[in-house]
Amino acid sequence: MAKQKDEWGLCKDCKWWQIEPDGSVENLTLGLCIDEKLQPFQLRVSGISGCNRFMNGKPARAKGSSDAPPSAEPVR
Ligand code: SF4
Repeated sequence: MAKQKDEWGLCKDCKWWQIEPDGSVENLTLGLCIDEKLQPFQLRVSGISGCNRFMNGKPARAKGSSDAPPSAEPVR
C-alpha cells in the first residue's frame, strides 16, 4: 500500500512536471517527471498522469521534455 500521508495529485498541477518551453498545461500534454527519486526512470507523463510524489506548483520548462525518451535535463 502507498503511504497514506503522501498526497496523490495530477502531473499538470505538480512542480516536478517538466514540459516543452511552449507547452500548454493540458490533460494530454506530455512531459518529463523530474522528481528527484523518479528521475532515473525518465518517466514521460501526461497532464492527467499522477502519483503520490506530487507537490503542488507550476511545471518546469525545457526543450526536449516531451521526446521519447526525454532528451531534456531536469531544470529543478
Ligand atoms: S509523476 Fe508524480 S512527481 Fe512526477 S510530475 Fe507527475 S505527479 Fe509530479
